[in-house]
Amino acid sequence: MDNELKQASIGPDKHPAASAQTTAPAVRLRPIQRDQLCWHMLDVERLIDEDHPARAIWEFVGRLDLTSFLEAIESFESCAGRPAFDPQLLISLWVYAYSRGVGSAREISRRCEYEPAFQWLTGLDSVNYHTLSDFRITHLRALDELFTQVLGVLDAEGLISLERVTHDGTKIAANAAQRSFYAEDRIRDALGRAREQVEALRAEALVEPTPNLRSQKAVERARRERVGRLELALTEFERIKGAKRPGYKKASKQQTGTSITDPQARIMKQGAGQHYGLSYNVQLSTDAHASIVVGAAVSQTAPDYEHLVPAVEQVAQRLGARPKQVIVDAGYSSRQNIIELHAQSVDMIGNWVESDGRVKQRFARVGVTAPFLPAMFEYHGASDTYRCPEGKQLRRYPDVHRPGRVMRRYRARVSDCRQCPCRPQCCAGSTRRYGRALVVTHEDPIVTAYRAQMTTPEAYRLRRLRGQVAEFTNAWLKEKLGLRRFHVRGLAKVRSETLWAVLTYNLQQWIRLRWRPRWICT
Ligand code: SF4
Repeated sequence: MDNELKQASIGPDKHPAASAQTTAPAVRLRPIQRDQLCWHMLDVERLIDEDHPARAIWEFVGRLDLTSFLEAIESFESCAGRPAFDPQLLISLWVYAYSRGVGSAREISRRCEYEPAFQWLTGLDSVNYHTLSDFRITHLRALDELFTQVLGVLDAEGLISLERVTHDGTKIAANAAQRSFYAEDRIRDALGRAREQVEALRAEALVEPTPNLRSQKAVERARRERVGRLELALTEFERIKGAKRPGYKKASKQQTGTSITDPQARIMKQGAGQHYGLSYNVQLSTDAHASIVVGAAVSQTAPDYEHLVPAVEQVAQRLGARPKQVIVDAGYSSRQNIIELHAQSVDMIGNWVESDGRVKQRFARVGVTAPFLPAMFEYHGASDTYRCPEGKQLRRYPDVHRPGRVMRRYRARVSDCRQCPCRPQCCAGSTRRYGRALVVTHEDPIVTAYRAQMTTPEAYRLRRLRGQVAEFTNAWLKEKLGLRRFHVRGLAKVRSETLWAVLTYNLQQWIRLRWRPRWICT
């Protein structure tokens, strides 16, 4: 019937060409028949090509020991209940999904219904998104072991040398909107209100039970969960307030509140711009030989320098040896790192930011003029004192010892400075209780040698290499795997997702360097 109508509507007198040639026959089109049922033959094995990455992932995961993932399974032979999904399948699904830039359990579940690679992996079975979602976040320890196993396989295949490892950090946005960031008093207010609401709901239920008990329970549960989140946010905020950064006497004043959707995320500067946002600091160590990630960690603190020594330790634990050379950027070049890595016989290559310019700026900010900068003070070796431009003596005070340096302190008498006409230009920023102070830093010889080494052309060449290796890994994770923002909330879950991402990245490197050449040669 449809076909007849269609033929009639474009018949000789309706067709544009018909007006010119009325004798031309009507065109004939293939009918579309939808009112039918049919069976299709489907060879599941041939759903994807022989060299498809899904096959490579399945093969690689099949070579690993997945016993740790079996411990949580509660389905047993000869017992009632449905069999559980094979961990090899769930791991392969997640790795393949991340490699396609898919980080949503619902999206994977949907794709299992129609996308050939997912259908091939599942054998046309469907996988519930709850199963996928739970599997991603509940196996942190097993996942960590799996990452070590993967590194073992890649090492055996000659893809890891540990001759040269780059280390870098990248800030990845937390799964929390900026509007979820509450200041302390706002969290306390919201918590008080949420507790009152929970109590009111309970009292209401006792007095007048509703006919729709299910929806009442759902509302109660939602309120209780909100109270739990607010309590966690308050606990995290107390931790932030009490936290001290190494070498600082006071807690950081930067963060004045926390997110109520992901209280463990922290405000960090993202990228080179001035944009601040709720984030986690992801630290990655990449072997330069074949760009394999050999270490991964997630931190709640923004500064990078405190993560270098633990990162080298992590590589040693996973691969049984420390890298011979570690290349980092200026964010890791602290004296403590230089000393500690030197003690571990690890050659550290990094940037050294000369602090002279910053010292001058700091003096200028407090009003100290050029004739009264530290270089204008004269040292007297016999008495171990300094003379200021006005000829007054600065006596030595007890030294301050810091890793990689000793700070010798000298100070003028307060009585001399009080009467001095140059006081406004010399010690404008200090109170009238103290005389002018001078701090002379004596570097550890290891630090001095490091600073000299960093000015050589070879060090410059290696720093350029760092950019190619480390920045490439960061960019791949964000652009190809879609990890610009975490899909999960909370530190433990974020750690799990980071491990999924680096596992995927490493398997993609293996496919590129070992799996694909097999098919090109055959
Ligand atoms: S303020 Fe004190 S240290 Fe500075 S020039 Fe005067 S006497 Fe010397």
